[in-house]
Amino acid sequence: MTEPHRPPEVDRVAASRRAVEARRARASLKRDIAMRVVTPQDVLARSTDATDSAAATLRVTEFLTALPAIGAGKRDRVLQSLGISPVKRLGGLGGRQRNALSTWLDERFPPIRPRAGRSRLLVLAGPTAVGKGTVAAHIAAHHPEILLSVSATTRPPRPGEIDGAHYFFVDDEAFDRMVDAGDLLEHATVHNRHRYGTPRRPIEEALAEGRTVLLEIDLQGARQVRAADPAATLVFLLPPSWDELVQRLVGRGTEDAEERARRLRTAKVELAAQSEFDHRVVNDDVAEAARKVVELSEAPARYSSRG
Ligand code: 5GP
Repeated sequence: MTEPHRPPEVDRVAASRRAVEARRARASLKRDIAMRVVTPQDVLARSTDATDSAAATLRVTEFLTALPAIGAGKRDRVLQSLGISPVKRLGGLGGRQRNALSTWLDERFPPIRPRAGRSRLLVLAGPTAVGKGTVAAHIAAHHPEILLSVSATTRPPRPGEIDGAHYFFVDDEAFDRMVDAGDLLEHATVHNRHRYGTPRRPIEEALAEGRTVLLEIDLQGARQVRAADPAATLVFLLPPSWDELVQRLVGRGTEDAEERARRLRTAKVELAAQSEFDHRVVNDDVAEAARKVVELSEAPARYSSRG
C-alpha cells in the first residue's frame, strides 16, 4: 500500500493523539469492568469485533486486575494456569486461550440466566442517575394499561414535583404510621438519608384487575418484593458506561458534591448486586430501554412484542 506524502510530524501528532484516545478508552473500559457496568464475558466477546477497539487492545493483565477482588498475585496464578502469557492483549488470544479464559470467567462470575416465566409485578431497579425514573415515566406515558406505583417518601419535593403524582410527600410520623399499619409492600432508607416505601393497596387492586404493575425502587426494596412475591420479575437497568453514569449525575445538577459522592457509593453497591436480578437492560436510549422492560413483563397481548 502506498501512503500519501505527509510531513512526518503530522503523522506523529496524529498517532500520538490516537494513542491518547486509545488509552483513555481502555481506562474507561477498565472502570466499567471494575464497577460491573459490563460483564467480563461481554468484554472478552467484544475483543474479537475490531482489532483496534479498547477491548481488543486491553492487556490480559489489566483485564484481570480490573475484575473485582483480583490482585496481582491471583492474576499471575490465573494466567499461568490458563497458559496465557502476561504480554498478551485480549484481541490476540488464541482460540484455546480464549475458551480457557471464558470458562474461568463463567465459574468466577456466573452469568445471569434470564428466567423463563413472566409476572405482572415488575420491579425496575438500578444505580442512581441511570434513568430509572425517565424509563418508568416513558412506560407510564405509552402504556396506560400498566400502573406505575407512586411511592411515599420523607424526602422534600424537588421543584416541579407534584404530591400524589411523583411521590406522596409525608413526614416521618406519617411514614411510621404507614409502616405500623402494614400499608407498605416494602420500604427502605435510601442513600442513608430519606425513607421511601411502596403503598400496598393500589398494587393489590391493579393486580386483581389483571393489570401489570411497575415499581421503580431501590435494591433493598427489590429484595423485599422478591421475598414477598418470588414470582415478581426483577429488572436491573444499567448505564452504557460508568463514566456516562457520573456525567448524568453531575449533569442533572440536582445534588451537591457530597450527595453525589453518597449516591455513587450506593451505585457501586447496587451494581455489585445485579446478579440477583432476572434481567439486565442497558439504558442507552430511553424508548428502546422502555420497550425492552415492557417486553419482560406479562403485559396484555395487544401491547406485547407481537403487537
Ligand atoms: P429520588 O430521591 O431521586 O426520587 O429517589 C432516590 C431513590 O429512591 C431511587 O433509587 C428510587 O428508585 C428509590 N425509591 C423511590 N421510591 C421507592 C420506594 O417506594 N421504595 C424503595 N425501596 N425505593 C424507592
